Amino acid sequence: MIVLGIESSCDDTSVAVYDSERGILSNVVSSQFIHLEFGGVYPELAAREHTKNFLPVLDKALKDAKISLNDVDVVTATFMPGLIISLVVGVSAAKSLSFSINKPIVPVHHIEAHIFANFLVKEIEYPFIALVVSGGHTELILVKDFEDYLYIGGTLDDAVGEVFDKVARAMDLGFPGGPVIDRLAQNGKEVIKFPRPMINEKGENRFNFSFSGLKTAVIKEIRKGIHTKEDIAASFQGAIIETLLKKTLDACNEFNVKRVVIAGGVSANSKLREEVSKIKGIEFYYPPLNLCTDNGAMVAFTGFKRFSKYKKGFKLDFEAKAKCRIDRFPQLLRDFH
Ligand code: ATP
Ligand code: FE
Repeated sequence: MIVLGIESSCDDTSVAVYDSERGILSNVVSSQFIHLEFGGVYPELAAREHTKNFLPVLDKALKDAKISLNDVDVVTATFMPGLIISLVVGVSAAKSLSFSINKPIVPVHHIEAHIFANFLVKEIEYPFIALVVSGGHTELILVKDFEDYLYIGGTLDDAVGEVFDKVARAMDLGFPGGPVIDRLAQNGKEVIKFPRPMINEKGENRFNFSFSGLKTAVIKEIRKGIHTKEDIAASFQGAIIETLLKKTLDACNEFNVKRVVIAGGVSANSKLREEVSKIKGIEFYYPPLNLCTDNGAMVAFTGFKRFSKYKKGFKLDFEAKAKCRIDRFPQLLRDFH
Protein backbone atom coordinates (compact mmCIF):
# COMPACT_ATOMS: atom_id res chain seq x y z
CA MET A 1 0.00 0.00 0.00
CA ILE A 2 1.31 3.45 -0.99
CA VAL A 3 0.58 6.31 1.44
CA LEU A 4 1.14 10.00 0.74
CA GLY A 5 1.94 12.07 3.87
CA ILE A 6 1.50 15.86 3.96
CA GLU A 7 2.87 18.08 6.73
CA SER A 8 2.27 21.85 6.95
CA SER A 9 1.57 22.56 10.63
CA CYS A 10 4.31 25.14 11.12
CA ASP A 11 7.05 26.40 8.80
CA ASP A 12 8.09 23.21 7.00
CA THR A 13 6.26 22.08 3.88
CA SER A 14 6.79 18.36 3.55
CA VAL A 15 5.43 15.54 1.43
CA ALA A 16 6.52 11.91 1.77
CA VAL A 17 5.68 8.61 0.14
CA TYR A 18 5.53 5.55 2.39
CA ASP A 19 5.19 2.03 1.04
CA SER A 20 3.94 -0.51 3.59
CA GLU A 21 6.25 -3.11 2.05
CA ARG A 22 9.37 -1.12 1.22
CA GLY A 23 9.26 1.69 3.81
CA ILE A 24 9.88 5.39 3.06
CA LEU A 25 10.28 5.94 -0.68
CA SER A 26 10.69 9.72 -0.44
CA ASN A 27 10.55 12.46 2.18
CA VAL A 28 10.90 15.99 0.80
CA VAL A 29 11.11 18.82 3.34
CA SER A 30 11.17 22.46 2.33
CA SER A 31 12.12 24.64 5.31
CA GLN A 32 11.17 28.29 5.23
CA PHE A 33 14.25 30.40 5.84
CA ILE A 34 12.14 33.50 5.27
CA HIS A 35 11.46 33.62 9.04
CA LEU A 36 15.15 34.08 9.90
CA GLU A 37 14.90 37.86 10.04
CA PHE A 38 12.01 37.68 12.55
CA GLY A 39 13.75 35.17 14.85
CA GLY A 40 10.53 33.12 14.87
CA VAL A 41 7.72 31.96 12.61
CA TYR A 42 5.51 34.68 11.12
CA PRO A 43 2.14 32.93 10.51
CA GLU A 44 0.89 34.74 7.42
CA LEU A 45 4.24 34.38 5.67
CA ALA A 46 4.34 30.69 6.63
CA ALA A 47 0.95 30.05 5.02
CA ARG A 48 1.91 31.92 1.84
CA GLU A 49 5.14 29.92 1.60
CA HIS A 50 3.25 26.62 2.01
CA THR A 51 0.96 27.62 -0.87
CA LYS A 52 3.98 28.44 -3.02
CA ASN A 53 5.99 25.34 -2.06
CA PHE A 54 3.33 22.66 -1.97
CA LEU A 55 3.12 21.62 -5.64
CA PRO A 56 6.91 21.58 -6.25
CA VAL A 57 7.40 19.56 -3.04
CA LEU A 58 4.64 17.10 -4.03
CA ASP A 59 6.12 16.78 -7.49
CA LYS A 60 9.60 16.04 -6.12
CA ALA A 61 8.24 13.54 -3.58
CA LEU A 62 6.48 11.58 -6.36
CA LYS A 63 9.53 11.73 -8.62
CA ASP A 64 11.94 10.65 -5.86
CA ALA A 65 9.62 7.73 -5.08
CA LYS A 66 9.32 6.94 -8.81
CA ILE A 67 5.55 6.81 -8.67
CA SER A 68 2.66 8.81 -10.13
CA LEU A 69 -0.25 10.29 -8.22
CA ASN A 70 -2.50 7.46 -9.41
CA ASP A 71 -0.31 4.92 -7.58
CA VAL A 72 -1.25 6.50 -4.23
CA ASP A 73 -3.69 4.35 -2.20
CA VAL A 74 -4.24 6.63 0.81
CA VAL A 75 -3.76 10.38 1.35
CA THR A 76 -2.83 11.53 4.87
CA ALA A 77 -2.12 14.96 6.34
CA THR A 78 -1.48 16.66 9.67
CA PHE A 79 -4.87 18.12 10.66
CA MET A 80 -3.93 19.46 14.12
CA PRO A 81 -2.47 21.04 16.22
CA GLY A 82 -0.47 23.89 14.68
CA LEU A 83 -0.75 27.31 13.06
CA ILE A 84 -4.26 27.16 11.64
CA ILE A 85 -3.53 29.08 8.44
CA SER A 86 -0.59 26.79 7.74
CA LEU A 87 -2.54 23.60 8.54
CA VAL A 88 -5.36 24.64 6.23
CA VAL A 89 -2.98 24.72 3.24
CA GLY A 90 -1.89 21.08 3.70
CA VAL A 91 -5.34 19.85 4.68
CA SER A 92 -7.03 21.53 1.68
CA ALA A 93 -4.39 20.08 -0.62
CA ALA A 94 -4.90 16.62 0.90
CA LYS A 95 -8.68 16.84 0.51
CA SER A 96 -8.40 18.01 -3.11
CA LEU A 97 -5.98 15.18 -3.93
CA SER A 98 -8.12 12.56 -2.21
CA PHE A 99 -11.21 13.80 -4.07
CA SER A 100 -9.54 14.01 -7.46
CA ILE A 101 -7.87 10.57 -7.39
CA ASN A 102 -10.81 9.08 -5.52
CA LYS A 103 -8.68 7.59 -2.72
CA PRO A 104 -9.36 7.66 1.04
CA ILE A 105 -8.15 10.47 3.28
CA VAL A 106 -6.82 9.86 6.81
CA PRO A 107 -6.27 12.65 9.39
CA VAL A 108 -3.15 12.62 11.57
CA HIS A 109 -2.37 14.44 14.84
CA HIS A 110 1.01 16.17 14.65
CA ILE A 111 2.26 15.03 18.07
CA GLU A 112 1.13 11.50 17.38
CA ALA A 113 3.20 11.64 14.18
CA HIS A 114 6.28 12.86 16.10
CA ILE A 115 5.90 9.91 18.50
CA PHE A 116 5.34 7.28 15.81
CA ALA A 117 8.30 8.56 13.76
CA ASN A 118 10.21 6.26 16.14
CA PHE A 119 8.38 3.23 14.72
CA LEU A 120 9.84 3.88 11.28
CA VAL A 121 13.07 2.38 12.63
CA LYS A 122 11.51 -0.48 14.54
CA GLU A 123 8.24 -1.40 16.22
CA ILE A 124 8.26 -0.50 19.92
CA GLU A 125 6.33 -2.52 22.46
CA TYR A 126 3.50 -0.88 24.44
CA PRO A 127 3.11 0.60 26.95
CA PHE A 128 5.68 3.37 26.90
CA ILE A 129 6.07 6.91 28.17
CA ALA A 130 6.37 9.47 25.38
CA LEU A 131 8.49 12.50 26.21
CA VAL A 132 7.47 15.05 23.58
CA VAL A 133 9.93 17.93 23.28
CA SER A 134 9.30 20.17 20.30
CA GLY A 135 8.93 23.79 19.25
CA GLY A 136 5.40 24.06 20.62
CA HIS A 137 5.05 21.13 23.04
CA THR A 138 6.64 19.66 26.15
CA GLU A 139 4.50 16.73 27.28
CA LEU A 140 4.59 13.40 29.04
CA ILE A 141 2.09 10.89 27.66
CA LEU A 142 1.44 7.29 28.65
CA VAL A 143 0.95 5.46 25.35
CA LYS A 144 -0.95 2.27 26.18
CA ASP A 145 -1.57 1.43 22.53
CA PHE A 146 -2.06 3.20 19.20
CA GLU A 147 -4.87 5.74 19.86
CA ASP A 148 -4.93 4.94 23.59
CA TYR A 149 -3.20 7.89 25.23
CA LEU A 150 -3.14 9.18 28.79
CA TYR A 151 -1.91 12.75 29.14
CA ILE A 152 0.33 12.83 32.21
CA GLY A 153 1.59 16.40 32.20
CA GLY A 154 3.03 19.21 30.17
CA THR A 155 4.46 22.69 30.26
CA LEU A 156 2.46 25.43 31.94
CA ASP A 157 4.19 28.11 29.85
CA ASP A 158 6.98 27.88 27.23
CA ALA A 159 7.83 24.70 25.33
CA VAL A 160 11.41 23.42 25.47
CA GLY A 161 12.16 24.08 21.77
CA GLU A 162 10.71 27.56 22.10
CA VAL A 163 13.07 28.29 25.02
CA PHE A 164 16.06 27.03 23.01
CA ASP A 165 15.00 29.39 20.21
CA LYS A 166 14.48 32.39 22.53
CA VAL A 167 17.78 31.89 24.34
CA ALA A 168 19.55 31.59 20.97
CA ARG A 169 17.89 34.79 19.81
CA ALA A 170 19.14 36.59 22.93
CA MET A 171 22.66 35.46 21.96
CA ASP A 172 22.18 36.47 18.28
CA LEU A 173 22.62 32.89 17.12
CA GLY A 174 19.86 32.80 14.48
CA PHE A 175 16.76 30.62 14.14
CA PRO A 176 16.05 27.82 14.92
CA GLY A 177 18.31 28.04 17.93
CA GLY A 178 18.29 24.44 19.19
CA PRO A 179 20.97 23.03 16.88
CA VAL A 180 23.29 26.04 17.44
CA ILE A 181 23.01 25.86 21.24
CA ASP A 182 23.59 22.11 21.04
CA ARG A 183 26.84 22.71 19.10
CA LEU A 184 28.06 25.58 21.31
CA ALA A 185 27.37 23.60 24.48
CA GLN A 186 29.73 20.84 23.34
CA ASN A 187 32.60 23.25 23.98
CA GLY A 188 31.22 24.69 27.21
CA LYS A 189 31.12 23.73 30.88
CA GLU A 190 28.13 23.70 33.23
CA VAL A 191 29.55 26.45 35.45
CA ILE A 192 26.30 28.36 36.10
CA LYS A 193 23.68 26.74 38.31
CA PHE A 194 20.46 27.81 36.62
CA PRO A 195 17.11 27.03 38.30
CA ARG A 196 15.48 23.64 37.63
CA PRO A 197 11.86 24.84 37.64
CA MET A 198 9.28 22.63 39.40
CA ILE A 199 11.78 19.76 39.55
CA ASN A 200 10.73 18.68 43.03
CA GLU A 201 7.09 19.67 42.67
CA LYS A 202 4.67 17.44 44.56
CA GLY A 203 0.94 16.91 44.10
CA GLU A 204 -1.05 17.53 40.95
CA ASN A 205 1.71 19.54 39.25
CA ARG A 206 4.39 16.91 39.73
CA PHE A 207 4.44 15.98 36.03
CA ASN A 208 4.09 19.54 34.76
CA PHE A 209 6.90 21.80 33.60
CA SER A 210 7.55 25.53 33.61
CA PHE A 211 10.42 26.97 31.59
CA SER A 212 9.75 30.69 31.37
CA GLY A 213 11.57 31.46 34.67
CA LEU A 214 14.62 29.53 33.49
CA LYS A 215 14.49 31.38 30.16
CA THR A 216 14.47 34.75 31.98
CA ALA A 217 17.38 33.69 34.24
CA VAL A 218 19.45 32.65 31.20
CA ILE A 219 18.68 35.85 29.28
CA LYS A 220 19.71 37.92 32.35
CA GLU A 221 22.99 36.00 32.52
CA ILE A 222 23.62 36.61 28.80
CA ARG A 223 23.12 40.37 29.32
CA LYS A 224 25.60 40.42 32.22
CA GLY A 225 28.32 39.38 29.76
CA ILE A 226 30.43 37.52 32.35
CA HIS A 227 30.39 33.98 30.98
CA THR A 228 31.16 32.67 27.49
CA LYS A 229 28.31 31.71 25.15
CA GLU A 230 29.57 28.13 25.31
CA ASP A 231 29.31 27.96 29.12
CA ILE A 232 25.90 29.60 29.13
CA ALA A 233 24.67 27.17 26.46
CA ALA A 234 26.02 24.15 28.38
CA SER A 235 24.59 25.34 31.71
CA PHE A 236 21.19 26.14 30.20
CA GLN A 237 21.00 22.81 28.39
CA GLY A 238 22.01 20.98 31.56
CA ALA A 239 19.16 22.57 33.53
CA ILE A 240 16.60 21.66 30.85
CA ILE A 241 17.76 18.07 30.46
CA GLU A 242 17.96 17.35 34.20
CA THR A 243 14.37 18.61 34.64
CA LEU A 244 13.02 16.66 31.66
CA LEU A 245 14.66 13.40 32.67
CA LYS A 246 13.77 13.62 36.38
CA LYS A 247 10.06 13.92 35.54
CA THR A 248 10.24 11.28 32.82
CA LEU A 249 11.78 8.78 35.24
CA ASP A 250 9.18 9.71 37.89
CA ALA A 251 6.48 8.96 35.31
CA CYS A 252 8.10 5.58 34.55
CA ASN A 253 7.99 4.78 38.25
CA GLU A 254 4.44 5.95 38.76
CA PHE A 255 3.06 3.96 35.82
CA ASN A 256 5.49 1.07 36.14
CA VAL A 257 6.75 1.45 32.56
CA LYS A 258 10.25 0.53 31.39
CA ARG A 259 10.28 2.16 27.94
CA VAL A 260 10.55 5.83 26.98
CA VAL A 261 10.08 7.21 23.48
CA ILE A 262 11.48 10.72 22.92
CA ALA A 263 9.85 12.72 20.14
CA GLY A 264 9.92 16.17 18.51
CA GLY A 265 12.72 18.47 17.36
CA VAL A 266 14.58 18.63 20.69
CA SER A 267 15.02 14.83 20.58
CA ALA A 268 17.86 15.65 18.15
CA ASN A 269 19.82 17.18 21.04
CA SER A 270 23.17 15.42 21.45
CA LYS A 271 23.48 16.03 25.21
CA LEU A 272 19.97 14.67 25.83
CA ARG A 273 20.93 11.54 23.89
CA GLU A 274 24.18 11.21 25.83
CA GLU A 275 22.40 11.54 29.18
CA VAL A 276 19.74 8.92 28.42
CA SER A 277 22.43 6.47 27.35
CA LYS A 278 23.73 6.56 30.96
CA ILE A 279 20.37 5.59 32.50
CA LYS A 280 20.09 1.92 33.42
CA GLY A 281 16.91 -0.16 33.63
CA ILE A 282 14.87 1.92 31.14
CA GLU A 283 14.98 1.55 27.36
CA PHE A 284 15.13 4.91 25.59
CA TYR A 285 14.21 5.41 21.93
CA TYR A 286 14.62 8.50 19.75
CA PRO A 287 14.17 8.99 16.00
CA PRO A 288 17.00 9.27 13.46
CA LEU A 289 18.05 12.92 13.07
CA ASN A 290 16.16 13.55 9.81
CA LEU A 291 12.89 12.42 11.43
CA CYS A 292 13.14 14.52 14.64
CA THR A 293 11.83 17.81 13.23
CA ASP A 294 8.74 18.14 11.03
CA ASN A 295 8.54 15.76 8.07
CA GLY A 296 5.95 14.05 5.91
CA ALA A 297 7.29 10.52 6.52
CA MET A 298 6.09 10.46 10.13
CA VAL A 299 2.67 11.65 8.92
CA ALA A 300 2.46 9.04 6.15
CA PHE A 301 3.43 6.26 8.56
CA THR A 302 0.96 7.33 11.27
CA GLY A 303 -1.74 7.64 8.60
CA PHE A 304 -0.89 4.14 7.43
CA LYS A 305 -1.31 2.81 10.99
CA ARG A 306 -4.70 4.55 11.21
CA PHE A 307 -5.91 3.25 7.86
CA SER A 308 -4.81 -0.28 8.82
CA LYS A 309 -6.92 0.01 11.97
CA TYR A 310 -10.14 1.44 10.46
CA LYS A 311 -9.78 -0.14 7.00
CA LYS A 312 -11.42 2.90 5.43
CA GLY A 313 -10.99 6.62 4.97
CA PHE A 314 -12.54 9.55 6.84
CA LYS A 315 -15.18 12.07 5.84
CA LEU A 316 -13.98 15.08 3.86
CA ASP A 317 -15.66 17.46 6.30
CA PHE A 318 -13.20 16.64 9.10
CA GLU A 319 -11.58 20.04 9.73
CA ALA A 320 -8.12 21.30 10.66
CA LYS A 321 -7.84 22.69 14.23
CA ALA A 322 -5.22 24.89 15.88
CA LYS A 323 -5.39 23.09 19.23
CA CYS A 324 -6.16 19.54 20.29
CA ARG A 325 -4.48 17.52 23.02
CA ILE A 326 -3.32 14.13 21.78
CA ASP A 327 -5.55 12.14 24.18
CA ARG A 328 -8.66 13.89 22.81
CA PHE A 329 -7.89 13.20 19.14
CA PRO A 330 -9.15 9.58 18.91
CA GLN A 331 -12.49 10.79 20.30
CA LEU A 332 -12.70 13.51 17.61
CA LEU A 333 -12.06 10.96 14.88
CA ARG A 334 -14.99 8.82 15.95
CA ASP A 335 -17.63 10.97 14.25
CA PHE A 336 -15.86 11.09 10.91
CA HIS A 337 -15.28 7.55 9.71
P1 ATP B 1 5.37 21.29 17.41
O1 ATP B 1 5.85 19.97 16.94
O2 ATP B 1 5.25 21.39 18.88
O3 ATP B 1 4.15 21.76 16.68
P2 ATP B 1 7.43 22.36 15.77
O4 ATP B 1 6.86 21.41 14.76
O5 ATP B 1 7.72 23.75 15.37
O6 ATP B 1 6.50 22.37 17.05
P3 ATP B 1 9.66 20.58 15.78
O7 ATP B 1 9.84 20.69 14.31
O8 ATP B 1 9.28 19.30 16.34
O9 ATP B 1 8.74 21.75 16.35
O10 ATP B 1 11.02 21.01 16.47
C1 ATP B 1 11.61 22.26 16.24
C2 ATP B 1 12.31 22.66 17.51
O11 ATP B 1 13.37 21.73 17.79
C3 ATP B 1 12.93 24.04 17.43
O12 ATP B 1 12.54 24.76 18.57
C4 ATP B 1 14.43 23.74 17.43
O13 ATP B 1 15.21 24.76 18.03
C5 ATP B 1 14.49 22.46 18.22
N1 ATP B 1 15.71 21.67 17.95
C6 ATP B 1 16.11 21.15 16.77
N2 ATP B 1 17.31 20.54 16.90
C7 ATP B 1 17.68 20.68 18.21
C8 ATP B 1 18.82 20.30 18.99
N3 ATP B 1 19.84 19.63 18.45
N4 ATP B 1 18.84 20.63 20.29
C9 ATP B 1 17.82 21.30 20.86
N5 ATP B 1 16.72 21.71 20.18
C10 ATP B 1 16.65 21.41 18.87
FE1 FE C 1 6.57 19.43 15.04
